[in-house]
Amino acid sequence: MTAVKNSGVALVTGASRGIGATIARRLVRDGFAVAVNYASSPAEAEKLVAELVQTGGKAVAVKADVSNADDVRKMFDTVEQQLGKVDVLVNNAGILKTMPLAQTTDEVFAQTFAINVGGVFNTLREAATRLNDGGRIINLSSTTLALNLPGYSIYNGTKAAIEAFSRVFAKELRGRRITVNCVAPGPVATDLFLNGKTEEQIAQFSKMPPLERLGQPDDIASAVAFLAGPDGAWVNGQALRANGGLA
Ligand code: NAP
Repeated sequence: MTAVKNSGVALVTGASRGIGATIARRLVRDGFAVAVNYASSPAEAEKLVAELVQTGGKAVAVKADVSNADDVRKMFDTVEQQLGKVDVLVNNAGILKTMPLAQTTDEVFAQTFAINVGGVFNTLREAATRLNDGGRIINLSSTTLALNLPGYSIYNGTKAAIEAFSRVFAKELRGRRITVNCVAPGPVATDLFLNGKTEEQIAQFSKMPPLERLGQPDDIASAVAFLAGPDGAWVNGQALRANGGLA
């Protein structure tokens, strides 16, 4: 039996590095033409696009700060001009700054909500009119929402907001055959998780899931690919925790 190949256009935000880059690779492998969004890493984004094109895929890099509504509108315009209307939107761009709530500055609060929540809001609002019928939206939440660890209040607040958006938006898109789901990873070995942690802390996190390792970007890309592909068609308005059984 030959594997089903997807066709269509996928837009992955924050795809220059980390989980987003791996999602872009996987979606190209699955047959999508992929727009690789980035904000401040043009070299990484262009290198990834070159790699994807070299392996026979179709991909373009598109600069946009997702927290800026105008950038997001222009990003959709560019993707439509270069690849066509979007079928799959993956809201992956996000930042994490852990600190006790009482020590959180106005700047960290505003920046985290602007990117993690504002960024998702901006793309969803565009997606409502721009996504093809039958499309898929996948928003990256986090298993930290279930763990309630000290230091994660602001970050968890942003992920709770996008899980709420996803459940409501899934219903607002009635009649369009567009699904909206979240993937909530546990700790994954990327800059976002590793930066600022000691070897000891990393080892501690690795031992937490019953599968006793950190997640790898491929673990998360597989869950996203399932929701983006034909096998995920009946899953709608859900949050899928991909975390090795951590919570
Ligand atoms: P990462 O390695 O730090 O990469 C973050 C990506 O987001 C980069 O490509 C970055 O692009 C992009 N980005 C940041 N701000 C942006 C903005 N304003 N506009 C557009 N792109 C922006 O992070 P990651 O670990 O891959 O995380 C990806 C997602 O998974 C995030 O939503 C995160 O919350 C979630 N997650 C991660 C983990 C984990 O343990 N790693 C666990 C649970 C959930 P530039 O460099 O071009 O700015």
